[in-house]
Amino acid sequence: MKILIATDMEGITGVTTWEQVTPGHAEYARFRRLMTQDVNAAIRGAFDAGADEVVVADGHWNGSNILIEELDARARLNTGSPSPLSMMEGIDQSIDAVMFIGYHARNGSPGAILDHTWSSKTVANVWLNDILTGEYGLNAAVAGHFGAPVILVSGDQTACAQVTELLGDLETAVVKQASGRFAAECQAPQVTQETIRLSAERAVVRLSEGNMPAPFVLDTPITVTVEFFTSDMADRATRVPFTKREGTRVSLTLPEMVSAYNGFRAMVMLASG
Ligand SMILES: [Zn+2]
Repeated sequence: MKILIATDMEGITGVTTWEQVTPGHAEYARFRRLMTQDVNAAIRGAFDAGADEVVVADGHWNGSNILIEELDARARLNTGSPSPLSMMEGIDQSIDAVMFIGYHARNGSPGAILDHTWSSKTVANVWLNDILTGEYGLNAAVAGHFGAPVILVSGDQTACAQVTELLGDLETAVVKQASGRFAAECQAPQVTQETIRLSAERAVVRLSEGNMPAPFVLDTPITVTVEFFTSDMADRATRVPFTKREGTRVSLTLPEMVSAYNGFRAMVMLASG
């Protein structure tokens, strides 16, 4: 059994501010270590439950957050950017299941630490076909394209609830209770790491028992619609061929999810200009 652990940083233990997840700020060094520890807890849980291989994708910012010298040596790390599949780098047909560690809610969510969708300065909303979603939905759909279900999410209670609402009854590891965008009641790392380890273990056991939600597979063709914050952003996003525009919403229809994911990334990259 081969597991991909797709990571982000906003949903890591103790994180409540942008400074903690932004390279160059004094606080960042502490939280990349905590990120590495949350990931290690998931790796331990996966191996404890009988996984044969674990691959990790460092999905936050420029993909260089996890401290490889402190990573569980049984795992391999996809790091750096830009990479072909970004937050899902490492996914392919050989992956049996995906775990989301350190995930956050979609932009506009109440009670959600650092809620945003891909780019906090550019993207207001994203729909996949008609489903309003966040990064978790885009990444789950890429996993689904390769036949892999998402079996675990860690983050605040709102991130875990949104992923469960979209995907079904997967394992969740709530590491903090958010009361606002920048405020939460956080559990200590000793506690959250044990929660994550046990949830990862249960997730792999349930997967082997056939007791996990199915992979998230969208009807094709897939329309990805992005609502940008301002019209100049939408102006730039429409430079991607075959886009359609309504106000600040730009949509693109493509035959399968990897193209839709890359089309989405291209629109946001141009819009962020
Ligand atoms: Zn992030």
